[in-house]
Amino acid sequence: MKYISTRGSVEPQQFSDILLGGLAADGGLFMPQSYPQIVDKLEAWRGLSYAELAFEIFSLYVDDIPADDLRALCDKTYTAENYPWCRAGKNANDIVPLTTIAPNFHLLELSNGPTLAFKDMAMQLLGNLFEYTLAKRGESINILGATSGDTGSAAEYAMRGKHGVRVFMLSPQGKMSAFQRAQMYSLSDANIFNIAVRGMFDDAQDVVKLVSNDAAFKAKYKIGAVNSINWARVMAQVVYYFKGYFAASKSNEEQVDFCVPSGNFGNICAGHVARQMGLPISRLVLATNENNVLDEFFRSGIYRPRTAAQTSVTSSPSMDISKASNFERFVFDLVGRDATAVRALWNQLDSPAIGQFDLNATPYLAKLAQYGFSSASSTHANRLEVIRSIWQTHELMVDPHTADGIHVAQKIRQLNVPMVVLETAQAAKFAETINEAINHQPLRPAPLNGIEKLPQHVSVMDADAQKVKAFIVEHCR
Ligand SMILES: *Cc1c(COP(=O)(O)O)cnc(C)c1O
Repeated sequence: MKYISTRGSVEPQQFSDILLGGLAADGGLFMPQSYPQIVDKLEAWRGLSYAELAFEIFSLYVDDIPADDLRALCDKTYTAENYPWCRAGKNANDIVPLTTIAPNFHLLELSNGPTLAFKDMAMQLLGNLFEYTLAKRGESINILGATSGDTGSAAEYAMRGKHGVRVFMLSPQGKMSAFQRAQMYSLSDANIFNIAVRGMFDDAQDVVKLVSNDAAFKAKYKIGAVNSINWARVMAQVVYYFKGYFAASKSNEEQVDFCVPSGNFGNICAGHVARQMGLPISRLVLATNENNVLDEFFRSGIYRPRTAAQTSVTSSPSMDISKASNFERFVFDLVGRDATAVRALWNQLDSPAIGQFDLNATPYLAKLAQYGFSSASSTHANRLEVIRSIWQTHELMVDPHTADGIHVAQKIRQLNVPMVVLETAQAAKFAETINEAINHQPLRPAPLNGIEKLPQHVSVMDADAQKVKAFIVEHCR
């Protein structure tokens, strides 16, 4: 399998070459040249463990890592030890259990990893793939990122102790919850560097952009990223849909719906890929919070990203996204993989006078309907209501993002088709909203009790690219 850019001006590349890079050189995102078809494999795959299923799927996309090595990487990534927070009473070997909350209505538990969020599932794979590939090439990498909480901690837990990898993670000083700070800053691994910058998340993000735009510095210090446009993260997430499909259906003649709490369009993009491979998905339902750019697109055909200032801060903060960084992958397929059409649409988006695109009166709108997406949004009150009712009926705590998904799924589900809502985090990460909903502190896995009292490792700094560069130089000696 080779990988091509959505903007069409780079030579096709191998998996290992795009693994360590970010955007393609022409500013596009990497996509597989074609989607492998798997309908005749479903029967054989139905009984596989998560790690075996992951290996079968990745093998179709990765042809420059020997099969035995790829299998070993999957076994190492998707083992019960890496997903220690499966709720009590579950089969410890099933790292992604399905919980039924009503007839034909299920929750796929994806947040049993070290940071209690589904991002761990893909990030843990990335950690092992990076270490493997860097060792083979005799190279090293310095990962630089900015986080408002979830992504940074998932990245640090995936990269801690990995040979050839250092992580420099910027976070806004005092803007994360005490639990999030404790998760990141209590790590004492020698390859993890936490930098708290005086300012907001956007200030931290700007510093990362400034440092990464210094081409000479970037090359000399091998600066890399693990952000959500990384194809390996999307690929890792394709497995969720196969696992969820098999768990929610009895035969491969059935169809299943999925509902996905969405921000950067990474998770649901993986669902689109799974469906293009032939997985019998009836509908992919996209759930947003009050920041409903993507919901608006799927209902109207108009894509109108907001500025950061027009984006509200909500109680499902990981979905407070103004521009969905993976959306271009989907649009590439929608326009029949015509890179010229993608460039024309993004020229409209990037033009300050236009800043949006409208697919009405184009042939792409009919194609959009064929794909079978649905969408809706939810409010703070909807989230509280879902958290309350699931707690009352099942004694199960769901996090606010998962609650967005449940609300939307309830609103537009087809009663005769199994609906699987993807769980994106555990309630313990969002104590404030849970408390507001049910007047009860969320349950936390016992080993994480008292994590706030552990010694913390963090350097505080102005949001100044020169100072961050000097810090990197000093710690690369
Ligand atoms: C990242 C995240 C999302 C959004 O996922 P995307 O892949 O960006 O669409 C939703 N919920 C939680 C808890 C997250 O961490």
